[in-house]
Amino acid sequence: MPLPLIVDAHEDLAWNILVLGRDYTRSVAETRRLEAGTPNVAHNGETLLGWQEYQQGRVAIVFGTLFAAPRRCSIGDWDTQSYEDCEQAHRIYRAQLDAYHALAGNHPDHFRLLQTRAELESLLKQWEGEEGEHPVGLVALMEGADGVRRPAELEEWWELGLRIIGLAWAGTRYSGGTREPGPLTADGHLLLKAMAEIGFTLDLSHMDEEASLQALDTYPGAIIASHANAVALLPGFQGNRLLTDAVIKRLLERDGIIGVVPYCRFLRAGWTEAEGREGIPLASVADHVDHICQMAGDARHVGLGSDFDGGFGLTAAPAGVDTIADLQKLVPILAARGYRDEDVAAILGGNWLRHLKSCLP
Ligand SMILES: [Zn+2]
Repeated sequence: MPLPLIVDAHEDLAWNILVLGRDYTRSVAETRRLEAGTPNVAHNGETLLGWQEYQQGRVAIVFGTLFAAPRRCSIGDWDTQSYEDCEQAHRIYRAQLDAYHALAGNHPDHFRLLQTRAELESLLKQWEGEEGEHPVGLVALMEGADGVRRPAELEEWWELGLRIIGLAWAGTRYSGGTREPGPLTADGHLLLKAMAEIGFTLDLSHMDEEASLQALDTYPGAIIASHANAVALLPGFQGNRLLTDAVIKRLLERDGIIGVVPYCRFLRAGWTEAEGREGIPLASVADHVDHICQMAGDARHVGLGSDFDGGFGLTAAPAGVDTIADLQKLVPILAARGYRDEDVAAILGGNWLRHLKSCLP
């Protein structure tokens, strides 16, 4: 079987472009060479992402995030993309969306911003039909909705190409979030209503369980979790960042898709960089895939959401993963567990493609 296409549902490319000056038209090796000994490595690790590696791993589509932390959670003064209030959040998130337009506009042979099904189909025709190198498709995803000042603004975001919104990172004024639990707020309910009217996909990642269950009961549109593992497989895991089986069950009932994260901290409770990644095999990613597939009774509701370069780099990726291209190593691991070729292809990218085909205008 030829290598399946990968769709990666979560990469903070714009944050890395604007904060660290990373240029994702470069290869991983080139970025690592240029950044060796610079603060970038201390701030965000050695990169796992680069255009050559997208080609090598047949990564056809990436959900590129707009992401900023509230100042109270900021990781350092060097983080230029953190915000004090919603006006500032708005400016930062808009600048990140502009960064994707610029990346695609300046490098059309490398990247395309996908806003419509027609653009998706035309890109897929290249990846599925032609040998050689192809542009990588980008789907814009807002992580943490504080960048939306009021629901009436959503129309404008949609026109600018945004297609997916997650209400939380830390808590936002819309929803309880990571380390800041809580329900949907009144504004959160209003935002969801406006999102549904336009056709946005809702991303539950980072939303607290309480808010997630509320959204699963009330949001009529498409729902995903772009990057989150199953907390049931990490006994002793501290915090509310991962998905409970109650949320997974409801998400599956809503025909949602979950992007599994190949990040050591989300694969073993209490893992620290000091212990190294050798004890965390890529097979532990397959455990999360399998957990979701067993709950779903099929292989149609799970995908990948790497979050690579999203606050961690090479040393926190599972053993054997040197770059994004190595996610193809999941193919033999899943096959050895009895997954058929078509199921493996669905997990690596096909399920996200089905989602995009049904949700893009
Ligand atoms: Zn995240």
